Amino acid sequence: MTFRSRHLLGIEPLHPVEITTILDLADEYVGLNRASVKHADALTGLTQINMFFENSTRTQASFELAGMRLGADVMNMQMQASSIKKGETLIDTALTLNAMHPDLLVVRHPHSGAVDLLAQKVNCAVLNAGDGRHEHPTQALLDALTIRRSKGRLHRLNIAICGDIAHSRVARSNILLLGKMENRVRLVGPPTLIPSGAADWGVEVYDNMAKGLEGCDVVMMLRLQKERMDGGFIPSEREYYHRYGLDAEKLAHAKEDAIVMHPGPMNRGVEIDGTIADDINRSVIQEQVEMGVAVRMAAMDLLARNLRAEAA
Ligand code: ASP
Repeated sequence: MTFRSRHLLGIEPLHPVEITTILDLADEYVGLNRASVKHADALTGLTQINMFFENSTRTQASFELAGMRLGADVMNMQMQASSIKKGETLIDTALTLNAMHPDLLVVRHPHSGAVDLLAQKVNCAVLNAGDGRHEHPTQALLDALTIRRSKGRLHRLNIAICGDIAHSRVARSNILLLGKMENRVRLVGPPTLIPSGAADWGVEVYDNMAKGLEGCDVVMMLRLQKERMDGGFIPSEREYYHRYGLDAEKLAHAKEDAIVMHPGPMNRGVEIDGTIADDINRSVIQEQVEMGVAVRMAAMDLLARNLRAEAA
């Protein structure tokens, strides 16, 4: 197994072999998660603290379940309600954490770079559960596992990432991962939601869904990140749905066996038609949630092995 990192802060520093190592181990954990007894002991005796400074449903629950299935002592700190509101700095938070001796720290934060900063100050392995618009590595890894299992490979695929690219950490981590694995990535969305430097990322950019989806194997839709918008980026949600919302007509431009993905939470009738999202022949949105638990188990298991090797 090749995975040498001390933390999982983003996809950017990962080597393709490390990505494959995480996905291979996650594949094994999918089997465990489908069994009637869902327990392994990879994290027995270790303490996992989940600190979410931003709301989350799927990701927090997924990390919590992943830690519990591997035998860790898991604690959720309610950061929204507590210290961030009282103005405690990240450094003070780190000192408090060090005194509690966690082994694994899962952090989500509204500011890009905040998780990296925390990782420099704490004495444990840190997993980035999403920082601002920057990265969301476990989301990209679970997307990769979903694609690999449904397409049988994770290279030389045509993948369209559609919608609000500008505010999306999911898009950024996916662009990095899918590029490292040698796929052809297209970004599709209104020019106001495509970052200005996007053409330099080794991707193709389209502002038209029919053209962008032509011949695609994978159609990945993104949520409009209204909480990160400080002005009007779209004329109206109705107009946005008309031009960029995924419906049967637009999907017909992709390959006949193209899969549809969405990281959740979904705005039905804004970026995606509810019928497409629920169509089990096209949509792999539920599989993405399932793969999320397995990928987080694999990532924490590998980081814990490195912690143990360091201590030995
Ligand atoms: N859940 C994902 C994230 O935290 C996607 C989204 O919120 O739209 O970035």
